[in-house]
Amino acid sequence: MGGYPAAIRASQLGLKVALVESGKLGGTCLHIGCIPTKALLESSELYHRVATRGAEFGLKAEVVGYDYPRMAERRDAVVGQLYKGVLYLMKKNKIEVVAGKGKLRDRNTIDVNGKQVKAKNLIIATGSTVKTLPGLELDGQYIISSDHAVLSKSAPESICIIGAGAVGVEFATFYNQLGVKVTLLEALDRMVPLEDEDVSKEMLSAFKKAGIEVQLGVKVKGAKKARDGVTVETDQGEVWAKQLLVAVGRVAISKDLGLEQLGVQTHPNGFIKVDEWMRTSAEGIHAIGDVVGGYLLAHAASHEGIVAAEDIAGQRLAPMEQNLVTRCTYSHPQIASVGMTEKQARDAGHEVKIGKFPFSAIGRAQIHGETAGFVKIVADAKTGQMLGTHIVGASIDSGNSSSISTLDSCAGTIRTCRSGRRASRSSHIWSCTTGNSFPRTIWSRRSGSTPPSRTTPFRNACSRFVAHSMMIRRPPSGPWRGAATYSRCPCRWYSVVADWWTANSRARRLPVDSRGRGLGWSWLPCS
Ligand SMILES: Cc1cc2nc3c(=O)[nH]c(=O)nc-3n(C[C@H](O)[C@H](O)[C@H](O)COP(=O)(O)OP(=O)(O)OC[C@H]3O[C@@H](n4cnc5c(N)ncnc54)[C@H](O)[C@@H]3O)c2cc1C
Repeated sequence: MGGYPAAIRASQLGLKVALVESGKLGGTCLHIGCIPTKALLESSELYHRVATRGAEFGLKAEVVGYDYPRMAERRDAVVGQLYKGVLYLMKKNKIEVVAGKGKLRDRNTIDVNGKQVKAKNLIIATGSTVKTLPGLELDGQYIISSDHAVLSKSAPESICIIGAGAVGVEFATFYNQLGVKVTLLEALDRMVPLEDEDVSKEMLSAFKKAGIEVQLGVKVKGAKKARDGVTVETDQGEVWAKQLLVAVGRVAISKDLGLEQLGVQTHPNGFIKVDEWMRTSAEGIHAIGDVVGGYLLAHAASHEGIVAAEDIAGQRLAPMEQNLVTRCTYSHPQIASVGMTEKQARDAGHEVKIGKFPFSAIGRAQIHGETAGFVKIVADAKTGQMLGTHIVGASIDSGNSSSISTLDSCAGTIRTCRSGRRASRSSHIWSCTTGNSFPRTIWSRRSGSTPPSRTTPFRNACSRFVAHSMMIRRPPSGPWRGAATYSRCPCRWYSVVADWWTANSRARRLPVDSRGRGLGWSWLPCS
């Protein structure tokens, strides 16, 4: 996923680019990750909503069922369409695609199927692969990974999922919505352990309400085939299910790439060490995406690819900041978050102030018929600086403009309501990949840095809209571009989208004057 945006950016900056790919362009995200899983979730969500709540919404549907092969067909069609788009982008940007498994020969050469590809600079974007636990051998039929589950042509009658991280809870949601009996096992004492603790609690209560059996603090010892299914042995007894899905994280694909001989250092867990410009310890070699660790998310990989390409082209804009990576989990309820959790903020020595707003008080949530969930803002009590935002609730990704629209606007709302302060104090560009967003920091007051001279803050204090802010900046060459944050009016969600660097069909050109001041903007309703 990160490799092709890096290639496009490098090409846009005037570099000659070759892309070596052993599988299919688009990688995990397009073929066995974000896109197919979200396509499946779209079907299961629709089915579940109509089947269980149709009557409440005034729908008459005597028989509501699902046809898994048809869902799988649609999944494949969505992937196929987007894949064509990636192929087109390669042609359009004159990127040479070299098919085959690459191995580094020296700092300027990659061996691919006996052929040598030479370049002044290299970017490693080999991604990650599924991980399993000792004693659990993936057979693709009874004991499966997310790769198998994504590409499956049918749903089992029951499933046991090990791991309540993002992948585990998304599959638990998917199967539960299709009426499959789901047991979710997690070794730690809470679900979605990377998220804020309040989010974990909300998830647990929502999952239990949905009929998913969640067992926390459970250590899996092994699994064996039994009664045309799998018996999972844990330190708290046995669980039987038709299938076992192992969703315990991913490992970097960094072995056998020839990294050692070139001095590319890795962490003990295999992830490649990089600095904030995605440079490895070897001169001329960058690495991006899942293979460098951090948040293993497509938009992060894509953003890192762009940072690396700009660094190589000598056109640095802003370094990669892991703490600004936005996270989305497409379970039911969904989760969106950015920055520190409350605990992380306290551990980092902040005097913390919390702003929490329940979905039950939001008109849109009432209309949607999903009032569970909240927005939680973690701020520094002394400075008012926003440190993190955490949202859990239904359909927070709606409108494809991502939860972060909710996030930033709510930050503004809460600040405005509680402290009378204006909008969020930092500005980012949020862009969409798969409904997620990634921040492209233009200038953040959070860092306390002086804004670069080409950056002009642009704010609007419209009385109707709660709060929003915008930054306009100009790339080292070329026209002024706009950055955007999002806002909310009292009755519905809106996003304001300006023109930015990544291709995005929803982007609108933002008129600006010669000094980069915004002259207008377009409002795109989110739902
Ligand atoms: C089930 C699932 C759901 C997900 N959902 C989301 C989501 O909703 N949102 C989100 O942001 N992220 C999601 N992710 C994560 C996302 O897919 C990854 O973070 C993203 O794909 C990482 O991009 P990458 O470029 O680092 O690696 P990849 O996308 O894996 O790309 C690496 C590419 O390198 C190729 N390759 C590897 N080794 C070699 C070699 N030696 N020579 C040549 N080519 C090689 C591979 O074939 C692959 O095409 C999901 C992941 C999974 C598994």
